[in-house]
Amino acid sequence: MKIAVLAVQGAFIEHEKMLEALGCETVELRQKKDLEQSFDGIVLPGGESTVQGKLLKELNMYDDIKERIEHGLPVLATCAGLILLASDIANDDRRHFATLPVRVKRNAYGRQLGSFHHDGEIKGLGVFPMEFIRAPYIEDAAEDVEVLAEVDNHIVAVRYKNQLAAAFHPELSGDARFHKLFVDMCG
Ligand code: GLN
Repeated sequence: MKIAVLAVQGAFIEHEKMLEALGCETVELRQKKDLEQSFDGIVLPGGESTVQGKLLKELNMYDDIKERIEHGLPVLATCAGLILLASDIANDDRRHFATLPVRVKRNAYGRQLGSFHHDGEIKGLGVFPMEFIRAPYIEDAAEDVEVLAEVDNHIVAVRYKNQLAAAFHPELSGDARFHKLFVDMCG
């Protein structure tokens, strides 16, 4: 199984390590020509969604990736990646891939709670160590979006068709179960 990891900015190496530990081959997407190869899934990592969104356009990678996601390529998106997928962003005028029908709020936990750890229940997985770093949360989701986790009444993980997304960073948790869920979607 070959998984592509968007590697223009942010925390992509940790995803690669986790996927490789699960037996996947990984390839980094840094420029348009990296998209010429075939792969079974794609990861949109955490980082800064505004920077990633801008680079995707500048590097001419945006249309290709959006089209693949719309055509069913499995995608795992974490934190900034979730913001890239969201169809609506409450506190930002920008929209990126907009393939996931949810409204997210960027930096939703404010400055003081910028980063925190929470052991929370994920549907089908049980208690999972969640690392939040200047994280968004999902304010609202379309009816057919499956909610996988909530923290303090805010949605923090969802699945919708081929798209799996989390506000936290499963790649930093040392727990591969969330990535395994994704790899199973790719298989
Ligand atoms: N605050 C970042 C953003 O808005 C996301 C933070 C992260 O990915 N850890 O893009």
